Amino acid sequence: MLRIQNKITQKEAIQWTGKNEKELYNFLGKMLTIYGGRVQIETLEGTMEANKGDWIIKGLKGEFYPCKPNIFEQSYDVLCEEKGCNEPAQKFSIEEGTEEYLCFKHATESGFCWGCGSFCGGMESFDFAEAHGNVRGYCEHCSDEIKMDCGEYDDEEVQ
Ligand SMILES: [Zn+2]
Ligand SMILES: [Zn+2]
Repeated sequence: MLRIQNKITQKEAIQWTGKNEKELYNFLGKMLTIYGGRVQIETLEGTMEANKGDWIIKGLKGEFYPCKPNIFEQSYDVLCEEKGCNEPAQKFSIEEGTEEYLCFKHATESGFCWGCGSFCGGMESFDFAEAHGNVRGYCEHCSDEIKMDCGEYDDEEVQ
Protein backbone atom coordinates (compact mmCIF):
# COMPACT_ATOMS: atom_id res chain seq x y z
CA MET A 1 0.00 0.00 0.00
CA LEU A 2 1.29 3.44 -0.93
CA ARG A 3 0.06 6.89 -0.02
CA ILE A 4 -0.66 9.18 -2.96
CA GLN A 5 -1.71 12.80 -3.22
CA ASN A 6 -3.28 15.08 -5.76
CA LYS A 7 -3.84 18.77 -5.27
CA ILE A 8 -6.98 18.25 -3.20
CA THR A 9 -6.87 15.01 -1.27
CA GLN A 10 -4.63 12.27 0.01
CA LYS A 11 -5.72 8.75 -0.86
CA GLU A 12 -4.31 5.25 -0.84
CA ALA A 13 -3.38 3.18 -3.85
CA ILE A 14 -1.64 0.02 -4.92
CA GLN A 15 -0.23 -0.96 -8.30
CA TRP A 16 -1.30 -4.33 -9.67
CA THR A 17 1.96 -5.98 -10.74
CA GLY A 18 0.41 -9.33 -11.64
CA LYS A 19 2.26 -10.86 -8.71
CA ASN A 20 1.17 -8.97 -5.61
CA GLU A 21 -2.08 -10.86 -4.96
CA LYS A 22 -1.55 -10.93 -1.21
CA GLU A 23 -0.87 -7.21 -0.96
CA LEU A 24 -3.89 -6.43 -3.12
CA TYR A 25 -6.07 -8.84 -1.14
CA ASN A 26 -5.12 -7.05 2.09
CA PHE A 27 -5.81 -3.68 0.46
CA LEU A 28 -9.22 -4.61 -0.96
CA GLY A 29 -10.16 -6.67 2.07
CA LYS A 30 -11.69 -9.46 0.04
CA MET A 31 -10.93 -12.41 -2.18
CA LEU A 32 -9.61 -11.57 -5.63
CA THR A 33 -10.98 -12.73 -8.93
CA ILE A 34 -8.05 -12.91 -11.33
CA TYR A 35 -8.58 -13.90 -14.92
CA GLY A 36 -5.86 -13.90 -17.56
CA GLY A 37 -3.65 -11.63 -15.42
CA ARG A 38 -6.47 -9.12 -14.97
CA VAL A 39 -8.00 -8.58 -11.58
CA GLN A 40 -11.66 -7.69 -11.13
CA ILE A 41 -12.45 -4.65 -9.00
CA GLU A 42 -15.89 -3.93 -7.58
CA THR A 43 -16.43 -0.22 -8.14
CA LEU A 44 -19.42 2.07 -7.61
CA GLU A 45 -20.13 1.67 -11.32
CA GLY A 46 -19.98 -2.10 -11.27
CA THR A 47 -17.22 -4.60 -11.88
CA MET A 48 -14.14 -3.27 -13.68
CA GLU A 49 -10.93 -4.98 -14.65
CA ALA A 50 -7.42 -3.85 -13.82
CA ASN A 51 -4.60 -4.90 -16.11
CA LYS A 52 -1.05 -5.50 -14.98
CA GLY A 53 0.49 -2.06 -14.31
CA ASP A 54 -2.83 -0.40 -13.49
CA TRP A 55 -3.26 1.26 -10.13
CA ILE A 56 -6.15 0.54 -7.80
CA ILE A 57 -7.16 3.60 -5.83
CA LYS A 58 -9.19 3.70 -2.66
CA GLY A 59 -11.52 6.69 -2.77
CA LEU A 60 -12.58 8.87 0.10
CA LYS A 61 -15.71 6.83 0.78
CA GLY A 62 -13.75 3.59 0.87
CA GLU A 63 -14.68 2.73 -2.70
CA PHE A 64 -12.14 1.25 -5.12
CA TYR A 65 -11.47 2.02 -8.75
CA PRO A 66 -8.74 1.18 -11.27
CA CYS A 67 -6.59 3.84 -12.92
CA LYS A 68 -4.34 3.55 -15.99
CA PRO A 69 -0.66 4.15 -15.21
CA ASN A 70 -0.29 7.17 -17.55
CA ILE A 71 -3.35 8.89 -16.05
CA PHE A 72 -2.10 8.02 -12.59
CA GLU A 73 1.28 9.64 -13.24
CA GLN A 74 -0.36 12.81 -14.54
CA SER A 75 -2.75 13.06 -11.61
CA TYR A 76 -0.88 11.92 -8.54
CA ASP A 77 2.41 12.09 -6.71
CA VAL A 78 3.33 9.00 -4.75
CA LEU A 79 4.50 10.06 -1.30
CA CYS A 80 7.60 8.84 0.49
CA GLU A 81 7.06 5.59 2.36
CA GLU A 82 9.10 6.70 5.37
CA LYS A 83 6.78 7.13 8.32
CA GLY A 84 5.60 10.72 8.76
CA CYS A 85 7.17 11.93 5.50
CA ASN A 86 4.83 13.69 3.03
CA GLU A 87 7.37 14.48 0.31
CA PRO A 88 6.82 13.39 -3.31
CA ALA A 89 8.82 10.25 -4.00
CA GLN A 90 10.44 8.19 -6.74
CA LYS A 91 10.56 4.42 -6.95
CA PHE A 92 13.77 2.64 -5.96
CA SER A 93 14.76 -0.99 -5.68
CA ILE A 94 17.91 -2.99 -5.05
CA GLU A 95 16.39 -6.02 -6.76
CA GLU A 96 13.01 -7.00 -8.14
CA GLY A 97 10.41 -7.25 -5.41
CA THR A 98 12.08 -4.72 -3.08
CA GLU A 99 10.60 -1.59 -4.67
CA GLU A 100 10.05 1.33 -2.34
CA TYR A 101 9.07 4.95 -2.84
CA LEU A 102 11.41 7.47 -1.26
CA CYS A 103 11.80 11.26 -1.32
CA PHE A 104 15.17 12.83 -2.16
CA LYS A 105 16.25 13.02 1.50
CA HIS A 106 15.29 9.47 2.38
CA ALA A 107 16.59 8.07 -0.93
CA THR A 108 19.97 9.65 -0.18
CA GLU A 109 19.93 8.31 3.36
CA SER A 110 19.08 4.85 2.03
CA GLY A 111 21.98 5.01 -0.44
CA PHE A 112 20.04 5.49 -3.70
CA CYS A 113 21.10 7.86 -6.48
CA TRP A 114 18.22 10.29 -7.18
CA GLY A 115 19.24 10.51 -10.83
CA CYS A 116 19.51 6.92 -12.03
CA GLY A 117 18.17 5.03 -9.00
CA SER A 118 21.21 2.82 -8.59
CA PHE A 119 22.16 1.73 -5.11
CA CYS A 120 25.38 3.43 -3.97
CA GLY A 121 25.15 3.00 -0.20
CA GLY A 122 28.54 2.34 1.35
CA MET A 123 30.43 3.91 -1.56
CA GLU A 124 32.64 6.66 -0.27
CA SER A 125 32.12 8.89 -3.33
CA PHE A 126 28.36 8.77 -2.64
CA ASP A 127 28.23 8.89 1.15
CA PHE A 128 30.78 11.71 1.25
CA ALA A 129 29.81 13.30 -2.05
CA GLU A 130 30.93 16.85 -1.30
CA ALA A 131 34.36 15.70 -0.14
CA HIS A 132 34.79 13.99 -3.54
CA GLY A 133 33.55 16.99 -5.50
CA ASN A 134 30.27 15.24 -6.33
CA VAL A 135 26.70 16.46 -6.07
CA ARG A 136 25.05 15.14 -2.92
CA GLY A 137 22.38 12.49 -3.54
CA TYR A 138 23.76 11.51 -6.94
CA CYS A 139 26.18 8.78 -8.04
CA GLU A 140 29.49 9.77 -9.62
CA HIS A 141 28.08 9.35 -13.14
CA CYS A 142 24.91 11.40 -12.56
CA SER A 143 26.87 13.96 -10.59
CA ASP A 144 29.18 14.45 -13.59
CA GLU A 145 26.19 14.93 -15.91
CA ILE A 146 24.68 17.55 -13.61
CA LYS A 147 27.96 19.42 -13.40
CA MET A 148 28.26 19.25 -17.20
CA ASP A 149 24.70 20.59 -17.64
CA CYS A 150 25.46 23.42 -15.25
CA GLY A 151 28.65 24.18 -17.16
CA GLU A 152 26.75 24.48 -20.44
CA TYR A 153 24.19 26.68 -18.77
CA ASP A 154 26.93 28.97 -17.47
CA ASP A 155 28.44 29.25 -20.97
CA GLU A 156 25.06 30.31 -22.39
CA GLU A 157 24.70 32.90 -19.69
CA VAL A 158 28.04 34.48 -20.62
CA GLN A 159 27.25 34.84 -24.33
ZN1 LIG B 1 10.89 10.98 2.83
ZN1 LIG C 1 23.12 7.93 -10.69
